[in-house]
Amino acid sequence: MQKLLTKKSDNKNIMNIESLLEPFKKLNETAVLKLEQAKEKNKIIAGVFCAFAPEEIIRAAGAIPVGLCGKSEIPISAAEEVLPMSLCPLIKSSFGYAYTDTCPYFAASDFIIGETTCDGKKKMFELLDDIIPTHVMQLPYSVSDRFAIGMWENEVLKLKALIEEKTGNKISDSDIVSQIKLLNKRRYLLKELALLMKKSSPPLLGKELLLIMESRNYAYDTEKYNSLLEELLNKLESYENKELKKRKRILITGCPMGIGTDKILELTEESGGIAVVLENCTGLKSFDRQCPETENPVLALSEFYLNTPCACMSPNKNRLNRLVELAEEFKIDGVIDACLLNCHPYNVESKTVADCMEKSLNIPFIHLETDYSISDTEQLRTRIEAFIEIL
Ligand code: SF4
Ligand code: SF4
Repeated sequence: MQKLLTKKSDNKNIMNIESLLEPFKKLNETAVLKLEQAKEKNKIIAGVFCAFAPEEIIRAAGAIPVGLCGKSEIPISAAEEVLPMSLCPLIKSSFGYAYTDTCPYFAASDFIIGETTCDGKKKMFELLDDIIPTHVMQLPYSVSDRFAIGMWENEVLKLKALIEEKTGNKISDSDIVSQIKLLNKRRYLLKELALLMKKSSPPLLGKELLLIMESRNYAYDTEKYNSLLEELLNKLESYENKELKKRKRILITGCPMGIGTDKILELTEESGGIAVVLENCTGLKSFDRQCPETENPVLALSEFYLNTPCACMSPNKNRLNRLVELAEEFKIDGVIDACLLNCHPYNVESKTVADCMEKSLNIPFIHLETDYSISDTEQLRTRIEAFIEIL
């Protein structure tokens, strides 16, 4: 038995990860064309910003949700003509794209769905509404408050009515349940891929995992996307990259990051670490849980999305509890809290996360603040290299 296992893993060492990732890269490259084709067929496109918007409701009406979080420095200077400089780069970049009309995803969107997650975003949405119709969902900040779920369910119902009006399609409960099932499958498959990083020799680098996780934003056909994920999972399940065993195992938490804003992740992996957990909302936070497939799907969705462990929630115990579990399950050597400059929710919550990791679990922790520019790259490199050195 032992002999057989060794042979299997030896053979798999020649796996070409680049070619496995190709279909996921292609989703990004062809996304704009697919949106144009959808528009020709009079499909309604809803631009979404955040992990709180229930995608199932949008899809149940036959509309297409498109992720809009800005990940480039380019439109920021234009945004600063209108917005204060002291806002997080994600808000400025997102607004800047709409303001300069330089993002094909904004251009394709018929309207925008925003949520009152943090002050900067909610005030930005008021200005965005002058450029493109923006529907803002009022998010309660406490999951445990007994009125919170009723309030959020009401917001989900208002969104449902809006989407019905925009598309002209009535959304039935069974339409919503079908979408919950499809997206639960997507969540399950993405999570299974993320869990492969528990291996002592993980099959992928964290930056490769990020590419896969982020590709869900460009996958408008969920069934086809689920098949792609399933195929990848089958190929990677028994694969171990022995080269990655030597690296220090890092958990990255904090603000959202994506390809283009993954400076800290890149530097971590250039400095001898491997990001085995990406806990932020580009990563596990968004597909860690399953939404119950019940007879009251609107309530189920409301509870499910309200429980997203984002730092805009106060208190945000779910994030801490999950971080502790992840640190133990993935045998983490060090935690990097990657925050965006001027993001108050995550930068303030950093102290609680640091105490929990360092004092309760005795795991080294570092808090890093950055933006979308390259000006701090070498400074960050020095700090990350020094951090990994001590692990
Ligand atoms: S970190 Fe929180 S507020 Fe920001 S995009 Fe993610 S879920 Fe939304
Ligand atoms: S990164 Fe922070 S400040 Fe920026 S939008 Fe998200 S929660 Fe708000």
